[in-house]
Amino acid sequence: MTEDFKLAGVMGWPITQSRSPILHNYWIEKYNLNGRYVPLAVKPERLADAIRGLPALGFRGCNLTMPHKQFAMTMVDSLTDTAKRIGAINCIVVDDDGKMSGTNNDGNGYVLSVQEVAPHWKPSDGPIAILGAGGAARAIIVALLERGAKEVRVINRTFDKAVALAKEFHPVIKSMPWDKRSDAIDDVTLLVNATNQGMIGKPALDISLDKLSSRTLVSDLIYVPPETAFLAAAKARGNVTINGLGMLLHQARPAFQAWFGILPEITRELRVKIMDTFKS
Ligand code: NAP
Repeated sequence: MTEDFKLAGVMGWPITQSRSPILHNYWIEKYNLNGRYVPLAVKPERLADAIRGLPALGFRGCNLTMPHKQFAMTMVDSLTDTAKRIGAINCIVVDDDGKMSGTNNDGNGYVLSVQEVAPHWKPSDGPIAILGAGGAARAIIVALLERGAKEVRVINRTFDKAVALAKEFHPVIKSMPWDKRSDAIDDVTLLVNATNQGMIGKPALDISLDKLSSRTLVSDLIYVPPETAFLAAAKARGNVTINGLGMLLHQARPAFQAWFGILPEITRELRVKIMDTFKS
């Protein structure tokens, strides 16, 4: 390692499931950079120490994943407005003076992943329905609001969480009870599964798509499996579908640029490389 060796990583607990090292190291090699992106297994009680150590260890920054996205906010010197609105960060950038800024690229990455498949779609085109009201749903809601969405229906199993989001982001966000999920989607331009239902090891998302227009874009944040039963059902009806891999890839690009100085390309080879890691 030399002094111009650029280091970044991802902090989480556990961390072995993260595909971010494969993704960023693919780009480091592709662009012939002198650096490495490393998995950092950090227990919640050691997070403050770990973040404080980043500048001294020569890190350009890091990603944050479960369960650190919220507490890490309190450890940085500055936050972007988007990160403040989301209430969580997924990325720290260390500047040349050792100051740390916190950002959250999840929601932006999500919108770009939809527009990659449907370039003409805009959040302001019409109503949007999101199933789920957890951290990922919140990041997406903020990105949709920042891009002019006019109506976003949040439909969640625990209704109180949807109501709280509707109150906070009034009047664009509307809360809907979980038992109305199959009816609240008839006129939406985009339907998003932001629950964990359909993920490998979990039951399929329980929803009827009978009322859905065939013009609705249907997306699932899950990418393992690459096509959930929800996406397969939508595709069989003729809807355009988008899985969660694009969100992972698109949130990573601006972080890589901030740390390594190059805005990297998302290639088919990269997509295949990541999905191959899920084959046993
Ligand atoms: P989270 O904060 O734990 O939220 C989980 C959500 O799933 C909540 O709305 C929860 O509802 C709902 N849920 C859980 N069990 C349910 C059930 N049996 N029936 C209906 N709803 C149920 O998790 P998150 O971080 O937001 O992640 C949500 C999903 O997005 C996960 O599948 C995750 O893998 C995926 N994700 C993907 C990316 C990507 O880059 N593609 C990034 C982040 C997350 P309650 O409020 O009722 O518990």
